[in-house]
Amino acid sequence: MPRPPKEVTCRCGHTSTLTIPKLLCVKCGKYVFYNADEQRRHRIQSLYVLGMFAAAITLVTYLFVEMIVEPLFR
Ligand SMILES: [Zn+2]
Repeated sequence: MPRPPKEVTCRCGHTSTLTIPKLLCVKCGKYVFYNADEQRRHRIQSLYVLGMFAAAITLVTYLFVEMIVEPLFR
């Protein structure tokens, strides 16, 4: 959905014009957000990705212990 261009100032002081929900700041490489809602959505998405990543690592570790480490000590 198209949005009217909006000027957002990054924490580093660089001002970007946004027409999309989020944009990488060209100066510091961090995201600047169209509004607080988009920032919250981004945070939830990041947490979700992080959670999935942690779950995958846990599963791989579990399988590794179950299938490789445990038989060695039997
Ligand atoms: Zn910046």
